Amino acid sequence: MRPIIPDYLAEALGDVEPDASGEPAAYIPELAAADPERLAAAFATVDGRVYGAGDVDVPFTIQSISKPFVYALALADRGFDPVLARVGVEPSGEAFNEISLESGSGRPLNPMINAGAITVHSLVGPERCAPADRVERVIRGLSAFAGRQLTVDRQVYASEMATAHRNLAIAHMLRSHDMLTEDARTVVEGYTEQCSVLVTTRDLALMAATLANRGVNPLSGETVVSETVVRQVLSVMFSCGMYDAAGDWATQVGIPAKSGVAGGLIGTLPGRIGIATFSPRLDRHGNSVRGVSLFERFSSDMGLHVMDVPSAGQAVVRSNHVLGSGTDALRVLELQGGIDFAGAERVVRAALETAPPEARVAVDLTRVHAIDDVARRMVLEVARRLTLDGQEVYLVDPETMLPDPDPGEGGRVTVVRTVEEAAPTPS
Ligand code: GLU
Repeated sequence: MRPIIPDYLAEALGDVEPDASGEPAAYIPELAAADPERLAAAFATVDGRVYGAGDVDVPFTIQSISKPFVYALALADRGFDPVLARVGVEPSGEAFNEISLESGSGRPLNPMINAGAITVHSLVGPERCAPADRVERVIRGLSAFAGRQLTVDRQVYASEMATAHRNLAIAHMLRSHDMLTEDARTVVEGYTEQCSVLVTTRDLALMAATLANRGVNPLSGETVVSETVVRQVLSVMFSCGMYDAAGDWATQVGIPAKSGVAGGLIGTLPGRIGIATFSPRLDRHGNSVRGVSLFERFSSDMGLHVMDVPSAGQAVVRSNHVLGSGTDALRVLELQGGIDFAGAERVVRAALETAPPEARVAVDLTRVHAIDDVARRMVLEVARRLTLDGQEVYLVDPETMLPDPDPGEGGRVTVVRTVEEAAPTPS
């Protein structure tokens, strides 16, 4: 059988290929020289499968796509409060290199614009970290997200530093507000090295998949940052990742994303996949023209908008029926799928609001494949309240979805492996 997903990706690339609008970034001379025809797309699943089409192994510099990952490293190294004190989380609605800071405090509005990203770079590693050690930590961290050792493109670095007047101006302004506490030029040098790290589209898909996979690289299994850090990073990517096009992006594509001026673009579907595209021509916002078209297409073809309403929640209670009759009758609530708060609310309703008259109730988890913490607590509370109402509660749990179920004070459950163990024996 021909591979379905690479074929789909190749077809999508073929559709956007004729669009030659936009220009490669010109303000970094070395980037202006990039081959504008390069085109690639890759998907990486949270269990480490990578599908790609086009120039997926061609290296280019990561540029601003480093920002969310380095923000993650700063949050991991310093904790939330010190980072939030220096860099906000509000969308700026302005261009990436706007010289804008929050009035009064001088705090950059978010970590995705250059002012925020330059400050964030200075917050990686321990306090009073030597600049070279910090760059080392940044490269090591980005490499851990990608699952392989990454290196810096010295030519792009030198080219950007030679024309980094705007970023230097931003850094000096940050220094004057004490948002930077170190030499402004040294921080810009470190930040520019960070932007000059070479990646491929395949690397970027895996980096995005590491965010999708709660901070665990799907190939190496390494936990790069915690789940709490990932949530913060994805939230900021969602509201601020696409610069002054963030609102259009959130509504039309609806995938937390980040673009870079070398033409890369990543998107993360939490718990599902990491996506990356590469095409150097940029639109007026600094986002890859063909990359944006590809993401629009992926989102609508595959229903990837994060605000799309999942269909699963409603069907958590697969059936609600009675076995046997009389005093022996057993009410069976058969659950299925993954259970979260909304699913557990259905269970609460089925079990409590309809107040089953039977003296014995079985909650059957045989077809449940996942149950999150709030749902676990809610199911156990259902068991406790049924016990308090004088009912005998069974948990049919052959796969131990609820280990050591303790319904709390006054509650009692009997764990069985099959409904038959609790069902009345036919007379
Ligand atoms: N190194 C670039 C800069 O700071 C990154 C900008 C981007 O990729 O959007 O200007």
